[in-house]
Amino acid sequence: MTTGSHEMLYARACRVTPGGVHSPVRALRAVAAEPLFVARAAGSRLHTTDGRELLDYCLAFGPLIHGHAHPATRAAVDDALAAGWSYGTAESRSLALAEFIVERIDWVEQLRFVNSGTEAVMTALRLARAATGRPRILKFSGCYHGHSDAMLIRAGSGLAGAAVPDSAGIPPGVARDTVVAELNDEDALAECFERHGKELAAAIIEPLPANHGLLPQRPAFLARLQALCRRHGTLLIFDEVISGFRIGFGGMAEATGIRPDLVTWGKVIGGGFPVGAVAGPRDLMEQLAPEGPVYQAGTLSANPVAMAAGLATLRTLVDTDGYARLRALGRSLGAGLSGLSGLRLQQFESLFWIAPGADAQRPLRRPADMPDTVPRHYPALFQAALARGIYLPPSPWECGFLSLAHDEEDIGRLVELLQDMAPAWR
Ligand SMILES: *Cc1c(COP(=O)(O)O)cnc(C)c1O
Repeated sequence: MTTGSHEMLYARACRVTPGGVHSPVRALRAVAAEPLFVARAAGSRLHTTDGRELLDYCLAFGPLIHGHAHPATRAAVDDALAAGWSYGTAESRSLALAEFIVERIDWVEQLRFVNSGTEAVMTALRLARAATGRPRILKFSGCYHGHSDAMLIRAGSGLAGAAVPDSAGIPPGVARDTVVAELNDEDALAECFERHGKELAAAIIEPLPANHGLLPQRPAFLARLQALCRRHGTLLIFDEVISGFRIGFGGMAEATGIRPDLVTWGKVIGGGFPVGAVAGPRDLMEQLAPEGPVYQAGTLSANPVAMAAGLATLRTLVDTDGYARLRALGRSLGAGLSGLSGLRLQQFESLFWIAPGADAQRPLRRPADMPDTVPRHYPALFQAALARGIYLPPSPWECGFLSLAHDEEDIGRLVELLQDMAPAWR
């Protein structure tokens, strides 16, 4: 099934799956549109079932740092496939990927592969609870850590630290074990640790929050979080599922010099195949079964095809000076939009977020800083982009991604679109 109108395919999909999609953002409801059906993709382009070519700045929400169907990844996957694709035994492709990573990130001694970012976070939280003997986890408003019960919790109104489920179906007991704090506020954080510190197994944060727009934190805030964790015997978990292997090989831990106790990875680590990982020092990691008492497992974990894709992705990045090239592309985008008013580009290297109507100067560091012009105007921007053959992230809160498959001409088309749209929002 590679051709056909979106309307027809969508109607069929809605009959057999809720909302016609297998992950809610793909329904495009946040941009007042209907799902697009993609037939194939290569480089920076998506090709839809009704024959359109789209310049892709969503890129599967982050994994495709080389763009779609990169030849080196494709060759590694073909090679792995020819050798069979799941053994349920030890094998050498996961060993090769694990060694490639551990050799290059000095504070990581061991890792375990899982199938998604969500799973990596679940495992990190269980490890932290086991290692500390404590029940509760601190998270931050505006950070996303996958869809496990413990992480689909948001701040309640009223009492500071009170938390409520962010989805139906999450028991109140789970919400009680998650404490929610605000980003960018050291005093409130210190108070939170005063009140809950003794019970906190871990604090988990996206060191570069990129799931509620892009909310870069001051290094001083991250440093304070680390200091408070140390003082209270709480483990610090960096959720680098988006930033890992994208903001340099060592992610934000490397960029900031702040080393967490545990890190979670996903997205780029699998190059577009289902891979996640939790990593850290040996003494902590060896608490995992079969070495230690913390149970964790997976029928398809460290799938050899996915491992081959991950290794080819990371090796190509390192061998071709990919990070320097990505930063240069990022600078072109930033330069093309500097001084623009009516629209703000929030950017960190190859990650960007477009905020229609946001003032260019005021720092945006917390969800509460987000102007309401963003959800109001973003759907029009998405649809105008689509009309010009550009696929932007299909939600006002999702980040866009640059890849090594984008070139200066691609960047130019995005810049031109934003320059044309911005005056309407001045
Ligand atoms: C995408 C993401 C996750 C969830 O990963 P999945 O592979 O979708 O389960 C967790 N944390 C962060 C920071 C993410 O960006």
